[in-house]
Amino acid sequence: MVGSKIGVIFDYDDTLVPDTATELLKKYGIDHEKFWGEDVKQLLLEGYDPTHAYLKLILNNIGEGKPFGKLTNKDLRAFGKTFDDKFSKGIPEVFTELKEKVKQYKDIDIEFYIISGGLREIIIGSDVVKNNFTSVYGCDLAGDTEDDYLKYVKRAITFTEKTRYIFEINKGITQDEVKENAYLVNKDVPVTSRRIPLSNMIYIGDGLTDIPCFSLITKASSDHAGNGFAFAVFDSTKPKSAKQALQEYLMPKRVTGAYSPKFDKDSDLGSVLRAVVTTQCANITLRNKEPK
Ligand SMILES: [Mg+2]
Repeated sequence: MVGSKIGVIFDYDDTLVPDTATELLKKYGIDHEKFWGEDVKQLLLEGYDPTHAYLKLILNNIGEGKPFGKLTNKDLRAFGKTFDDKFSKGIPEVFTELKEKVKQYKDIDIEFYIISGGLREIIIGSDVVKNNFTSVYGCDLAGDTEDDYLKYVKRAITFTEKTRYIFEINKGITQDEVKENAYLVNKDVPVTSRRIPLSNMIYIGDGLTDIPCFSLITKASSDHAGNGFAFAVFDSTKPKSAKQALQEYLMPKRVTGAYSPKFDKDSDLGSVLRAVVTTQCANITLRNKEPK
């Protein structure tokens, strides 16, 4: 029997909230255009991966007399909390509404996840996140102790790395279990025993880092129950964002649709998401009635 849980997986920055790293740079008076432009570019030319490049640049600005000062993870969590009133339209109501919808079907439930290339401590500082998400995956920085200022990269989530966390969710591997065995994601779990099949997943993201996840969920499912759904979100007021959504996501059929990041029931994405969850509930119900 293929699993009866639905997993809705979100990117964070520019999908659920404005870009938190850019807002962090602004708060501490760092020129974010130069940071994302020439500073990151220079490191890429030196061979840095984009995620490692931005994390190094953040660390370069932390310490006595530097723009971030002695920035700690506690500071990041406090900063993250300031996003509680900056979520996209329809958040957090959509979570309650989807849970209610799924309750109408016997033995089916729904969980929400975040997989982000942004800083995890900023994300988990939000009460909206704490109250609604099962797990959050993101980049982590660390100091020498829990309260120390940040000096090291503890975890970097690059674009293809994002798919690793989809497989952890797929196989039902928890973050605590991974601490005990870092290679657990490679464990062979029969397709029919996976906690949340790829076909029961919905992925929503805005950026080029989300492409491997879009493709994995919409094209690479091997659990015999079909594929899942992926949606791109884009800022319709920015021509570059709309062009990217069309050329990179929609035309190559990497996503089921591309919309503004609005999750209320009257917005395009919000209504499609509700319809897709209903479809998945019906599909799971039918599959579970098939003779074994
Ligand atoms: Mg994003």
